Amino acid sequence: MKVLVINSGSSSIKYQLFLMPQEKILARGLLEKIGLSGSMLHHSREESSKIEISTEIKDHHQGLRIVLETLSHPQYGAIEQIDEINAVGHRIVHGGEKYTASCLVNDNLVSAVRKFCELAPLHNPPNLAGIEACEELLSSVPQVAVFDTAFHQTIADHAYLYAIPYAYYEKYRVRRYGFHGTSHRYVALRAARMLGKPLTELKIITCHLGNGCSITAVKGGRSVETSMGFTPLEGLVMGTRSGDLDPAVAFYLMEKLNLSVSEMKQILNRESGLLGVSEIGNDMRDIWKAKEAGNPRADLSLRIFWHRLKKYIGAYAAVMNGLDILVFTAGIGENDYRTRQKVCEGMDYLGIEIDKKKNAAVQGEKAIISAASSRAKVLVVPTNEELMIARDTYEITKRKT
Ligand code: ADP
Repeated sequence: MKVLVINSGSSSIKYQLFLMPQEKILARGLLEKIGLSGSMLHHSREESSKIEISTEIKDHHQGLRIVLETLSHPQYGAIEQIDEINAVGHRIVHGGEKYTASCLVNDNLVSAVRKFCELAPLHNPPNLAGIEACEELLSSVPQVAVFDTAFHQTIADHAYLYAIPYAYYEKYRVRRYGFHGTSHRYVALRAARMLGKPLTELKIITCHLGNGCSITAVKGGRSVETSMGFTPLEGLVMGTRSGDLDPAVAFYLMEKLNLSVSEMKQILNRESGLLGVSEIGNDMRDIWKAKEAGNPRADLSLRIFWHRLKKYIGAYAAVMNGLDILVFTAGIGENDYRTRQKVCEGMDYLGIEIDKKKNAAVQGEKAIISAASSRAKVLVVPTNEELMIARDTYEITKRKT
């Protein structure tokens, strides 16, 4: 069975075509700058080299048509006809409280995702555009929605509610939703498999450290706490997002500088985090270069990043009454051994003992980086949200095709 996985962003479409259940990638690509000048498709097939097609693409519908044409292209395609695609899996960022698992797309689901656009104005509209384009171009093919929020729907009310007037939850569903759920679910599962232990018996903390960063406590395979909240702004320090903040800081600055709500949002979402403190950039590699060159602010931004992460690890071990596995994933988690080492330093009270040599040798591959004597195991697990989406799509649609 061939499953096309689509991750449709505001100006991009990422895709992978899988052969399932073999989990083999037949082709993958990225279409970027949709609706902007200089749109470009980067496409690759397993055995052939990458191709790049530069073309003007005005919207997601046209973008998806080009993706499908490329996938079935006689020279660089991976299929002969587009009707070889048996199912499509979509990454959908916000499923509200309604979706606790992946689901087949139908009219009800589409209207629910449309309703949740209010909660995820940057993400849900392009996700929806991807579904709509597929409905038009692949009308008879079943589609599955895989929600970033779904994994966190197991979190208890005392952990997902904010201590603000309850009416705001009742009326407007203001609560913690959590994001990156597909990634946390995937790496927790993988970590348990790597250690040959049943997920249902484990207390795992998963650290997804990319441009966006979040951390989740996974107890017995279920998310019991996560750091992103009502929006992806809460929690850890990120590339350009502040993470946790006393809300009074925002009121103070808005009053003092006469800032509008949208200006304040811009500051906290796009001008804060590593970028805001270091004034260098949002990319961890640039921060490291500057630190090595002696830049004190790069050093400070790293220390704030590590401290926040450490604080959360301790808090989540408290929430679970212990820790069996600590997992690092995504761009920083998979590649930045110095961050992994710094965060794990002084955590022997939690039974964390990192093997410095092993850790330093790991970049982008799965590995156990704790010392043999470490009570809690520390793992690097490369995330693979697309594979998780392909698996869910296969499981949900296999009886239909
Ligand atoms: P996204 O959230 O956009 O998917 P990624 O998971 O690709 O992001 O992570 C991007 C982050 O990973 C960037 O801050 C980047 O600097 C960092 N990163 C990638 N490779 C390395 C590396 N070798 N060392 C340190 N940081 C790295």
